[in-house]
Order: sequence, then structure tokens, then C-alpha cells
Amino acid sequence: SQDRPVILIPGKMHPRALERMTDLFDVRQIDGADASLITPDLATGVVGIATFNKVPAALMDALENLEIVSNFGVGYDGVDAGHAAGRGIVVTHTPDVLNDEVADTAIGLLINTLRRLPAAEQWLRDGRWVKDGPFPLSPLSLSGRKVGFYGLGRIGQAIARRLEGFGLEIAYHTRSRRDGVAYAYHDTLLGLAQAVDTLIVIVPGTAETRHTVNAEILQALGADGVVINVGRGITVDETALIAALEQGVIAGAGLDVFEREPHVPQALMALPQVSLLPHVASASVATRNKMADLVVDNLVSWFKTGKGLTPVSETPFTRPAR
Ligand code: NDP
Repeated sequence: SQDRPVILIPGKMHPRALERMTDLFDVRQIDGADASLITPDLATGVVGIATFNKVPAALMDALENLEIVSNFGVGYDGVDAGHAAGRGIVVTHTPDVLNDEVADTAIGLLINTLRRLPAAEQWLRDGRWVKDGPFPLSPLSLSGRKVGFYGLGRIGQAIARRLEGFGLEIAYHTRSRRDGVAYAYHDTLLGLAQAVDTLIVIVPGTAETRHTVNAEILQALGADGVVINVGRGITVDETALIAALEQGVIAGAGLDVFEREPHVPQALMALPQVSLLPHVASASVATRNKMADLVVDNLVSWFKTGKGLTPVSETPFTRPAR
């Protein structure tokens, strides 16, 4: 076991990933992604990290022989990939294996938001169907909506393909137009918001996307407007969203992600035109197992063949000969 690569797990890890890593590597666990927890032994010994999307630059810099950060999740906004790139450290993530799950959840959240199905079920469970009669009609409907995608990557396209089956008009905004896609392209988010009434947010949470869904965009969506966010919380200006909902600038929102998870503003919880999920878009046993395997397989591949299976675009590195 002396020559097995030392892999650090700062914080929690998926049990299946942990079990497989323990068989294959010399696994060390610390309580969190905190450089002050790094002992001299770890400082020189650790060559890899497995993480749930949290590795700040300071933690990387406390590990002088770090080669790879294997992230659990396709979004890696919590891993400082720019810093990793500067140090020649590869960052890997878990794309594609969760596309269907996240897309299915997005459709569920969209319909829950428009038709208020979670509140209708609560009505039944609370005995109100018997006591008070039928649940109130939902003011909104999916039929006839114009859907705009902010982001049309692996997951955005999987959601869009599903919505084609609903017979809805689809448009999108990304930085560059996609080849081989028939949907209407808008080169600005504002242009997209003006053209549609339903905005599905499925871009990464980056400095560039931060708070881009703001008061102006919400105003452009209009009074029938609905925002669905299954990307990252910081892309939507939550304060502006709450104001727009409270004032009827838009009609509703469905959110799986928030600015300060796990904290969700009380003002959002108070609104009946909002459907809220605790970041569960990929959270089935089967899909999380696939993600766990890809976390481990990236590490295995790196140390065996010198290449990660799914490196992020900032770190297209191979392992130098040692
Ligand atoms: P991809 O990289 O395949 O797609 C990202 C899309 O966003 C591309 O179409 C890209 O197009 C667009 N994009 C990126 N930056 C910008 C920008 N500044 N302005 C406009 N468009 C932009 O990623 P995935 O589809 O695999 O995943 C998307 C995100 O979803 C993840 O990064 C993650 O944060 C989130 N996610 C959330 C989950 C949840 O549990 N709720 C689960 C899984 C993912 P272009 O480059 O042309 O701009």
C-alpha cells in the first residue's frame, strides 16, 4: 500500500466512491476543504483530491505534489480551475452521465411550477379535498408556451429534446451559436427574454453568468413569464427575482438551486407561484452511482494511463512522465 497514490477527501464523499477509492488508493479524509487541516505528511504525500465541488486555491497550494482534482458533479464552480490550470493540476468532472436525470427533473419542476402540483398534493394530504372541495385552478399552463434556453449544452439540449415532444416553440442564447440545432438563436440574453415567456436557466455558475438573470431580463419576460433554474443559484439575482414575483412583473419560478444553499429566502417560500427543490436534479441512486464511478474512474485513468477521462476545458493536461 506504500506505493498507492494518496487521495485526499476533504469533507463528505459518496459511499460507493469512497468504497472503491479505499480499495484502489491510500485514502485520507479531513473534515473540510480547509488548508489549515493539512498536516506536513499530507502536504507532501497527497497527489489527488476527490471532492463535492469545493477546492479553493489555498487547499491546492497546501499540497505541493497535487496532480488531479476529481470533482463529483458536472458543475465545478466550487473548484478553482483557473488556479489549477496555472499550477498544471488537472480538474475532472462528471459530464453526460447525469444528462437524462437532470433533464427529467427540469421537466418535472417546470410542470410543478405551472400547474402547482406539489401544492395540489398537499391539499389532498391535508384533507382539504374533503373539507374544502377541489383545489383552485392553476393560473398557468404549459400549453402554448415559448421556451427560451439560457445554455444549450449537454443538459440544455436534453431538456429541449423533451420539450419538442410537448410541441412548444424553442429558442436559446449561448455565447456561440450551435451547429446542427434548428432552434432560434439569440445573441443576447435580453433578446431571448423578449422573445419568450419561459426561461430555462442551464448555464454554469461563473463570474460571467453571475446575476445575469436580473430585473431587466425578468421585465422582458413579461407578466406571463416563468423562470426555471436548474443550473446554479448565482446566475439569478435572487433579490431581483423575489421583487419581480412579489410585484407581478413575472408569473412564477421553479428553482432547484439557490444563491446561499442550503438557505432559501423566506420570501421565496411564502410565494405560491414558486416551486422549490433542494438541489435534487441529479439525485437518484442510479445516477449518483454513475457519477461516483466516473469520479473514481478519472483518478484510476490518470494514474494508470496519464490521462483523465473527462477533464474540464481549463485543464487539458496529461500526466508528465515521473
Ligand atoms: P455544458 O458545458 O455542456 O453547457 C453549458 C452551456 O452554457 C453551453 O451551451 C454554453 O454555451 C452555455 N454558456 C456557458 N457560459 C455562458 C455565458 N457566459 N453566456 C451564455 N451561455 C453560456 O454544461 P452542462 O449542460 O453539462 O451543465 C450545465 C450546468 O448545469 C453545469 O455547469 C452545472 O452548474 C449545472 N448543473 C446543475 C445540476 C443540478 O443539480 N441542479 C446538475 C447538473 C448540472 P457557450 O459556451 O456557447 O456560451
